[in-house]
Amino acid sequence: MKRIIVLATLLTVGTLSMAVAASQQPVGNVAAQAAPKVVEVEKLRDNLFMLTDGGGNTAVFVGASGVVVVDTKNPGWGQPILDRIKELTPKPITTIINTHTHGDHVSGNVEFPATVEVIVHENTAANMQEMRASTQTAPNGQPPNIFKANNGRGMPKKSFKDRITIGTGADRIDLYYFGRGHTNGDAWVVFPALRLMHAGDIFSGKNIPLLDANNGGSGIEIGKTLAKAANSVKNVDSIITGHSTVMTMADLREYAQFNDEFANAVREAKKKGGTVDEFVKTWKIPAQYKGYAAPAEARLLSNARIVWDEVK
Ligand SMILES: [Zn+2]
Repeated sequence: MKRIIVLATLLTVGTLSMAVAASQQPVGNVAAQAAPKVVEVEKLRDNLFMLTDGGGNTAVFVGASGVVVVDTKNPGWGQPILDRIKELTPKPITTIINTHTHGDHVSGNVEFPATVEVIVHENTAANMQEMRASTQTAPNGQPPNIFKANNGRGMPKKSFKDRITIGTGADRIDLYYFGRGHTNGDAWVVFPALRLMHAGDIFSGKNIPLLDANNGGSGIEIGKTLAKAANSVKNVDSIITGHSTVMTMADLREYAQFNDEFANAVREAKKKGGTVDEFVKTWKIPAQYKGYAAPAEARLLSNARIVWDEVK
């Protein structure tokens, strides 16, 4: 009896101290911390799953002898990904592929077993050493480097320049680099047997892209890079986007054109001798691009400035 009372008292004290701790946090943080980290699973093929929430879209590919994971979301989301994979297959995770350096695509790496091999484009390997703030978040200062905080755990040990193939037959995965765009290290991950690829944030969805010049991104190059991908990769029907729904090669072609038109519009405005602020005030998404999200003003201005500075 006495033990139960003690336990009840401890629980009450525990709950109270948690409540006190919570009340000292800004409201937004409490919501973020209290929210359980739930990863949703969408089955795209018998052995390929898209895991959403917690950052960029994650792909889980179950091969004959092991599992390959593409992108690992924000800090703290590695374990929820691991928990979901355990529900999908008993096979071990052998490989992580990160599409690029951003924290919402790589941070979960540190929660995976240290034996897992991490593969990225060579520029992303360099960017992950630094984990620089993006052009958009740079005004808030340099974020903590999650890899340095974890003694280098989750860092890539293998990288590629233009193309690399891992696995054979039904397990084959082709990684391509087609040039600068969202960053200077955007990998395209193709699963030929499944007619599917993961594009990461160079195709994050139907919106104006996040151009991260701090990590080598380019507003002039992104349209060309997207077009090169659309023209080079054959036999793909489904594209996992960085942050949106699954799309098609036709969507990718349209997105390439959209980005090229944006760069040209900025170039024209600069040629006419206007200012970048005037351009941003008047530019609208061309009517032919259906379903494109209206851009946040800050991102539109940031992208326009990046292209403006790139135009010779
Ligand atoms: Zn990104």
